[in-house]
Amino acid sequence: MAEGRIIEGLTFDDVLLAPRRSSVRSRREVETKTLLSRHLELKVPIVSAPMDTVTEHAMAITLARAGGIGIVHRFLPIEQQVEEVLRVKRSESIIIEQPYTLRNDQRLKDARRLMAQYGVSGLLVVDGHGKLLGILTARDIQFERDPEKSVGEIMTQLKDLVTAPYDVSPKEAERVLHEHKVEKLPLVDKEGKLRGLITSKDMLSLEQYPNASKDEKGRLLVGAAVGVKSGYLERAKALHDAGADVLAVDVAHAHSNITIDAVRTIMKELPDVELIVGNVATKEGTDDLIKAGANAVKVGIGSGSICITRIVTGAGVPQLTAIMECAKVADRAGVPIIADGGIRNSGDITKAIAAGASTVMIGSLFAGTEEGPGITVMREGRKHKLVRGMASVAASFDRSSRETEQNEEDSAVNLIDYVPEGVEAFVPYKGSASELINQLIGGLKSGMSYCGATNIQQLRGKANFVRLSPAGLKESYPHDVEVI
Ligand code: 5GP
Repeated sequence: MAEGRIIEGLTFDDVLLAPRRSSVRSRREVETKTLLSRHLELKVPIVSAPMDTVTEHAMAITLARAGGIGIVHRFLPIEQQVEEVLRVKRSESIIIEQPYTLRNDQRLKDARRLMAQYGVSGLLVVDGHGKLLGILTARDIQFERDPEKSVGEIMTQLKDLVTAPYDVSPKEAERVLHEHKVEKLPLVDKEGKLRGLITSKDMLSLEQYPNASKDEKGRLLVGAAVGVKSGYLERAKALHDAGADVLAVDVAHAHSNITIDAVRTIMKELPDVELIVGNVATKEGTDDLIKAGANAVKVGIGSGSICITRIVTGAGVPQLTAIMECAKVADRAGVPIIADGGIRNSGDITKAIAAGASTVMIGSLFAGTEEGPGITVMREGRKHKLVRGMASVAASFDRSSRETEQNEEDSAVNLIDYVPEGVEAFVPYKGSASELINQLIGGLKSGMSYCGATNIQQLRGKANFVRLSPAGLKESYPHDVEVI
């Protein structure tokens, strides 16, 4: 951006997409496949935000099943964030390579604790050498009262189990599950050692979620956020080792030396990592992050619904202009843009992509769903959920007390000097995220058809915007009627 000049900044409500002749007969003909980052493709251009009231494993699983991806937030100790990633990676796959196990000499109380901790209804039982001895399911333990009873006594014994060799084909595994009407098929090698697990639930989900975002092992895709201050590299390595498919360097103002240094370090230490970096809102910011090694650039300064950066600091760029400016640079480098913040409906998604984004990131809109980790409260007789900016006072206070507990003094927030750039809010409870995601995808597909586009590339290349007057905006909403 030239120095000392004023340029015009527009956002979603300032424009509409000009309708164009369309060849689309049904929404089924419209394809939403897109790039999240240089090397990672999604069938649906929706990403959930790394906020502690938006993305933990539940949101990430639902969104990946629908074809998008969730980015697990970083406001957790490293081990817990890793566990959230593992829960997504283990949630479904053709073969679970390292199923949860316990030993036959462990106690019923251990089994109950592990089942609750991992959120599973069955654990495979092995001896000290990893040999399969049996399985312990919720059915085996439901009437057991003695917490000290050994697992070996209660489990279903190996002789009563159906197992398969570890190189069984998915088709054969499906046949065996069906024939024996069992839910779990442990895979063993010639010595009887446990080598994996196939579940009927995973088999069914292959058919149930045909658009699901999956890795080459059939596991759901998941991303995870890291910061740029102390411990970020250790966190990045742990998340990468846990199987996170993409890491997101998640900073309010990423056009900064500290972020660029962190990106270079991560790319040097983990050269094969798929790295999203943001946020920026200018061509220069985009260019610098791409030069540092970003595989995707996240755009949005002050655009978030719970964000007060523009009010507190006076800085920011209206989101539509920010996307258009950043996309000019990113397109030349072949790097996708993620439009982050301010998405309130499917129309905003269509506009963001038409402006040059390849995907959108959503925070508050998802926070009200069942999968959002925020607390649920009743307000005026209606269910609501909490959403909070990650730079809000409460989020910073929680972070500070946790970090002080862990003696990470250098990273603890000094709340007296702290200037919040986010707020806490309630959003109406919306039920399951999958219904909302379906609505968003449906609206996007219709929007694409209005623009004469059958795929995302065409939407990005073909769309024309119409600038709106305040009267035009008013006309866009229901008007002169009493909405029921
Ligand atoms: P939303 O979809 O809620 O409009 O925006 C979500 C985005 O807001 C997040 O992905 C993140 O970039 C941004 N964000 C989250 N918390 C804060 C905050 O406390 N302050 C600011 N400025 N932005 C935030």
